Amino acid sequence: MSDVLKVLIDEFGTSAVVGANLLRERATSYWDSTPTRAKCLVRPGSTDELARVMRICHGHDQTVVVQGGKTGIVQGAVATAADVIVSLERMDRVESVDTSDGIAVVQAGAVLQSVQEHVADLGFLFPVDFGARGSCTIGGAVATNAGGINVLRYGMMRNVVLGLEAVLADGTVISSMNQMLKNNTGYDLKQLFIGSEGTLGIVTRVVVRLFPMPVSRDTAMFACESLAAVTRQLSLLKANLAGTLSAFEVMWESFYASVTGEGGPAAPLERGYPYYVIAEAEGADPAADAERFQRLLEEGMEGGDIVDAILPKSEAERRSLWNVREEFDLALPAYLYDVSLPIRHMETYVSRLEERLRAWRDDAECEVFGHIADGNLHIFVKPYDNGAHHETSDGIVYGCLDGLDGSISAEHGIGIDKRPWLGLSRSADELKLMRELKQLLDPQNLLNPGKVIN
Ligand code: ZN
Repeated sequence: MSDVLKVLIDEFGTSAVVGANLLRERATSYWDSTPTRAKCLVRPGSTDELARVMRICHGHDQTVVVQGGKTGIVQGAVATAADVIVSLERMDRVESVDTSDGIAVVQAGAVLQSVQEHVADLGFLFPVDFGARGSCTIGGAVATNAGGINVLRYGMMRNVVLGLEAVLADGTVISSMNQMLKNNTGYDLKQLFIGSEGTLGIVTRVVVRLFPMPVSRDTAMFACESLAAVTRQLSLLKANLAGTLSAFEVMWESFYASVTGEGGPAAPLERGYPYYVIAEAEGADPAADAERFQRLLEEGMEGGDIVDAILPKSEAERRSLWNVREEFDLALPAYLYDVSLPIRHMETYVSRLEERLRAWRDDAECEVFGHIADGNLHIFVKPYDNGAHHETSDGIVYGCLDGLDGSISAEHGIGIDKRPWLGLSRSADELKLMRELKQLLDPQNLLNPGKVIN
């Protein structure tokens, strides 16, 4: 037994320290069913306990990888046999909700969906939402600055975090539990931890913003002949829905055809249109909201931008529209990408990508969908061939961003997967400053080593 393992067991007991053998029964991640490897997994029950864990690991020069729901797709939380894994699964409570300020204090191990449900019972919306809601944790969502389908209205995780508490590599607790929207008292330290993927500190508790729960919801799926028409309809909805447009998901025909294929959800609209959109608005006045929403769609149809549309008449019908967007397992395996770029460059980007993929090999293709109002495109590149051409595929997808003001990661982060490509999106001076921050906060390189930067 290694020294550090013995000290951790002596200090916290076997119930809080899961050994390497038992860990092998846990999958590496949602995407990788091979057994988890690590010296052990520690489950602290409080910030103080985590601080003690980190002081022990710091004293033993022990590397630490924090794991949440393990649903990320850039290998940002993968451990090696030499690492200690920290899981905050015992710190999973909503500590308090302040209904007058519209804020909640949440522990990092809380599952996103349980937080959403907890505050919904009090009439509030926690707006950050995405497919992994049932297993991802708030701490993981903060560490990766998660996005999802409501970003165009509420922003990413960064935009709903008011304050947080984090434990540094040496066990120092930085408590920055600000509760106000306004607080200009020097450097905004919480930003160091949001989106840094567990490389600068371990987030333990978070103060998040809540929003009034909308009472109306209007949804439509419609088809367009061009991306210009999609964009015009987006502008029309944004301009006339008084800030209530909460989702605008675009699916390229390639993606739509793939997910509605054999075994997938039924195609709500005929296949063969170049673009499909799911638009959703949420407001406070059901009758007036529905009337306004439908009028804007009619306007789109009369002007020719919308060529086909469906308005769900029940929650079940609404769900069946969303299933087309969310049940994409049928389209896998594929290389998964998550780039962002200005809407004005998207058409150029996708046609450039299709061209270069075909030039690479005859059977290469991409399926595209995304939250275009935030500039975010998700791309599946096929064939997957068991990952044999990962680097070539990466090079093509990222290379096509050249000159288009894009980013190699809109919301998935960098992890290990995208680290070699980070220089395409960040300047040498930016990377240098990132390394200096890492050096300052974690000089022994103990926290999530090898992720994001070298
Ligand atoms: Zn997304």
